[in-house]
Amino acid sequence: MASCIFCKIIKGEIPCFKLLETDKTLAFLDINPLSKGHALIIPKFHGEKLLDIPDDHLTDILPIAKKLVKATGAQEYNILQNNGPGAHQVVEHVHFHMIPKPNETEGLG
Ligand code: 5GP
Ligand code: ZN
Repeated sequence: MASCIFCKIIKGEIPCFKLLETDKTLAFLDINPLSKGHALIIPKFHGEKLLDIPDDHLTDILPIAKKLVKATGAQEYNILQNNGPGAHQVVEHVHFHMIPKPNETEGLG
């Protein structure tokens, strides 16, 4: 969709820090991270909410989330996905957040 910022990121019209990419999916760093390594995983298919996305695009996403978690080394993490403004969705293109929690020993001594 022409006016969608995540579609523009997919097309390379807006820059992003790319992490992983397949023919169906793109993962990149969140511009306003809640923690170090906060990533967004999006289908290369414009749809506003989860039910708008074809299954074959959705099944590509969780294995990528797993790879990103492994890459951060985080032991604790959130994978979440908001649908609709009342559920805190701001960008109207389906996206999964992968938010690693700092490991307990990180930043100590
Ligand atoms: P939502 O609240 O819709 O689930 O989250 C949208 C997320 O997209 C937010 O965490 C926000 O920081 C991120 N975001 C919004 N615009 C951009 C952008 O242009 N580039 C990147 N990398 N992240 C963005
Ligand atoms: Zn879009």
